[in-house]
Amino acid sequence: MEDRIEFVKTILKKLRDTVSKERLKQLDLDKCERAVEKLSIFSESCEECQYYLLELEEYFIQLEANQDETDFKQHKQFIYGITSHLQKNHKLLPEGYYLSIFMSLGMSIGVVFGLTIFENIGIGIAIGMCTGLAIGAGLDADANKKGKTI
Ligand SMILES: [Zn+2]
Repeated sequence: MEDRIEFVKTILKKLRDTVSKERLKQLDLDKCERAVEKLSIFSESCEECQYYLLELEEYFIQLEANQDETDFKQHKQFIYGITSHLQKNHKLLPEGYYLSIFMSLGMSIGVVFGLTIFENIGIGIAIGMCTGLAIGAGLDADANKKGKTI
């Protein structure tokens, strides 16, 4: 299994070197790489992860061979399938998870404070958003450091 993971990583690296910048963005190879990383960790105890890892291997071989015929919609769906398995079954969080939660939370609290304490809804929202941003970004960085993000 370890050789397999190395092999997938090698293909990913090759893709990164050969594909155009625009493609690189569309393929979201960073995310793919993180997915491989996580799948390799969980594949020891999860059959589904093992299966996904094999699929990824096959998939990237194909992708490298037929770069011009990549169906990005399908690509997205494929990667989405993997990340949602990792999120659901292995409790990983999507990138920017806390940021989006605390931003909207901060905004709604900001509206309330804006209307009551500051008597200025704009200031309330601004303060709420900044606070939410700070808390959310901090929690995201922490989750990232602990390897809990996909
Ligand atoms: Zn799994």
